[in-house]
Amino acid sequence: MLLENKTAIVTGGSRGIGRSICLELAKEGANVVTCYASGAAGAEETVKLCEELGVKAMAIKTDVANGEEVAAMVDKVKAEFGSIDILVNNAGITKDNLMLKMTEDDFEQVIDTNLKGAFLFTKNVSKIMLKQRAGKIINISSVVGVRGNAGQVNYSASKAGLIGMTKSVAKELASRGITCNAVAPGFIETDMTAKLPEAVVDEMKKTIPMKCMGSGEDIANLVAFLASDNARYITGQVICVDGGMAM
Ligand code: NAP
Repeated sequence: MLLENKTAIVTGGSRGIGRSICLELAKEGANVVTCYASGAAGAEETVKLCEELGVKAMAIKTDVANGEEVAAMVDKVKAEFGSIDILVNNAGITKDNLMLKMTEDDFEQVIDTNLKGAFLFTKNVSKIMLKQRAGKIINISSVVGVRGNAGQVNYSASKAGLIGMTKSVAKELASRGITCNAVAPGFIETDMTAKLPEAVVDEMKKTIPMKCMGSGEDIANLVAFLASDNARYITGQVICVDGGMAM
């Protein structure tokens, strides 16, 4: 197993890609702590599924955009598990609209959750990783952060921001044994994309060279690799998992 005796924090693990990441890291032997905003039942189900794989798991209600809640969660994980070896900033939301119709509130909420949330977790966890002189930070961005997308000015700005943050954190922490990479999923089957009308989904699929949507496991497989020592010499990278969409 690639991650035996490691402890991972995965934000937003109550469903979707976050749950797939929790399960893949657990399969590789890591203890997993996740957080959620309101999906307590989903998060507890993720914990149960991880425990069935033979690792320790825990879910803590934490709004990633709230600095005090994030600091409290990181302190609790450190106290319970002793180390934090892997951080996956996965929690994210969309509030889509054309820019001229987008409210200031919709812009702020998406930036606060998707971008500020990753900053808060990275800042708190990296203090622990610096003392350990080891750690892997993985940010879940999006192809939309690479290419932009009409109707997603807020979301694409947050995901492009994560790419800039990834590279800057990688430069600040590389000499201390900590890597930071971004994964940019394409069009993945989860609750987030289930909201889209069927006609939009069909049109999107036509733009994907592989002509199909991806799964949470497609993302989780890469995250587990980046979290392992097999990815020792990789930092500051943005890797698209998108069936060729961003080429
Ligand atoms: P999802 O099914 O909507 O799940 C989102 C997760 O984030 C849930 O666990 C949710 O918890 C959590 N979350 C949202 N706001 C939070 C907050 N303020 N504090 C704590 N947790 C919060 O989304 P997904 O499709 O799995 O997406 C996961 C990540 O991949 C996101 O960053 C998304 O932007 C990115 N992504 C997705 C796609 C795609 O096609 N699906 C493509 C590119 C990138 P609750 O259950 O409590 O709400």
